[in-house]
Amino acid sequence: MLKIPEEGKLIDAGKFYREVYRTYTIAKDRFTGVDKADLPDFVRFGEAVTGLIGELAYDFVPADAKLVVHGKWLAREYEDGGSPYVLFHCSECDYPNARQRAYCPECGAKMDRV
Ligand SMILES: [Zn+2]
Repeated sequence: MLKIPEEGKLIDAGKFYREVYRTYTIAKDRFTGVDKADLPDFVRFGEAVTGLIGELAYDFVPADAKLVVHGKWLAREYEDGGSPYVLFHCSECDYPNARQRAYCPECGAKMDRV
């Protein structure tokens, strides 16, 4: 049964690619000499490679990084004794801010330019 890595797991794509290629080479060598007209062997080859790649994705050491949460500043109008003003609220945590910063100071979300 194929194990599926958890969502949001960050890995080093370059290292992963090199390991996938190395694994593919090993798997391919096992099938050297197999009659290419023999479809069941190719299906087994494909399943073997797919399974090995899946195991790599599950077991690969995570990169030393955090998932970036993206948010937007949402303008909300207020009124204070007849003088209206606007605060920008973080779409991720609703933190109010007087100006639109690049990051939310409360939750750290990276704010996408609208
Ligand atoms: Zn926030």
